[in-house]
Amino acid sequence: MSSNQLFLIPDVPEYAPNQSAARQARDFLKSVLPDADEVKSELNDALIFVDPGANLELVACPQCGRNAGKWWGEALQNYRRNGAAAFVVVTPCCGKRTSLDGLHYRPTAGFARFVLSAHNPVRAITRKERQQLSRLVGCNLREVSAVV
Ligand SMILES: [Zn+2]
Repeated sequence: MSSNQLFLIPDVPEYAPNQSAARQARDFLKSVLPDADEVKSELNDALIFVDPGANLELVACPQCGRNAGKWWGEALQNYRRNGAAAFVVVTPCCGKRTSLDGLHYRPTAGFARFVLSAHNPVRAITRKERQQLSRLVGCNLREVSAVV
């Protein structure tokens, strides 16, 4: 059986809210999704890839729009092995510099230190709720919806 995961990550990958802001955001998410299996927040030392799992349809170059499926997986592995130094890549398709976070993912995916998540959220959050969460965290949040 598959399960669903809702992730909310800052627009700015390195952004890290303080503990009280993180707690308030988690508590608010818990209050709007009372039927979720688990709601939590985590702060990682390094940027981690927050992806839509089986939902991921496409990864594309942000410069020329070409499909990045051929090289992107290797670039991600390289980042996992070598860390920050491998976060910026030169696209093989058109030779432009971008970060792994700057690639186009469909549906939304991204890199983050701070991750707010709800396991089996039962319903989607509204735009208003996301704006409220963004205010609590202090940074605009992106929504990543995953099937795991
Ligand atoms: Zn390109």
